[in-house]
Amino acid sequence: MTDTTIHHRICPLCEACCGLELKVRDGKVLSIRGHDADVFSAGYICPKGVALKDLHDDPDRLRTPLIKRDGEFVPASWDEAFAEIGRRLPPILAQYGRHATAVSVGNPSAHKISLLLYFSRLAKALGSRNVFSASTLDQMPKQLSSGLMFGHWLSIPVPDITRCDFLLMLGANPVASNGSLWTVPDFRGKAKAMQARGGKLVVIDPRRTETAAMADEHHFIRPGSDVFLLLGLVHTLYDEKRVKLGRLAPWVQGVDDVGAAVAPFLLKRLRSAAALKRPPFAGWRVPWPAPGVPPFMGGWALVRRNTARWPAGWSTCSTS
Ligand code: SF4
Repeated sequence: MTDTTIHHRICPLCEACCGLELKVRDGKVLSIRGHDADVFSAGYICPKGVALKDLHDDPDRLRTPLIKRDGEFVPASWDEAFAEIGRRLPPILAQYGRHATAVSVGNPSAHKISLLLYFSRLAKALGSRNVFSASTLDQMPKQLSSGLMFGHWLSIPVPDITRCDFLLMLGANPVASNGSLWTVPDFRGKAKAMQARGGKLVVIDPRRTETAAMADEHHFIRPGSDVFLLLGLVHTLYDEKRVKLGRLAPWVQGVDDVGAAVAPFLLKRLRSAAALKRPPFAGWRVPWPAPGVPPFMGGWALVRRNTARWPAGWSTCSTS
């Protein structure tokens, strides 16, 4: 038997990149825990990080390429797999075109240098419009809106939890997930620090989640009706003449069009559509940053799963 060795790695399962401490003996992973000295995650990980050992040891984990023969997948060597691709792919492309193919990658592709370097080249060479990934399942709308608003699909703003003093969260549960794309390990500790400095956490969620349990306010909402809540907030901003662009005015277009679009919606009907038992916050009003304080820095932040179109200045994040 060899000695037990300790290895420090990051978890490859999501953007939070939590630090892991692995105990290994004789090539076997004995245990996985959070790495206390990790400068970012400070020992906090989610259950998926702990479960990496089970994933690693799972007898069903793919350890070789598989080729379908007579209707069944059978293990093959890499040479056999490449030979099969060389034999079958060109005729398919020739007969049906490039869109007859599709590629899909999972989350660890964002953490492996080889996949980071070569997957996009492979996809480009293949020329198919059918490119799927973990992102296309749960965050592509956010990436699209970030690209349209900020110029690049990875320019994704995240709430500044260490400085904001009002955090509005729709359908997210970062106590369990560490924020994923938001990358906020130890969310509980950071949210408690915000509350200790006088800040407020408000959760809108049809479920009583771990995050909702520690919120200052939790509003249940009919699943799928976030749009009515957000419409009510935007309506209120215009109704109470709180839309003040300040120095951002030169970069914003269509503000009056948005006001005209939301004006006909009645708050009472929006509340009923969202099945909110009582108006959220104080009526539809939420604490707004003091004059001169940029909402991104000292005001409040909003977290929502997936995507919506936000009023200028809201800090937003797609998370889970
Ligand atoms: S939040 Fe969970 S899945 Fe994401 S990196 Fe951390 S341990 Fe891994």
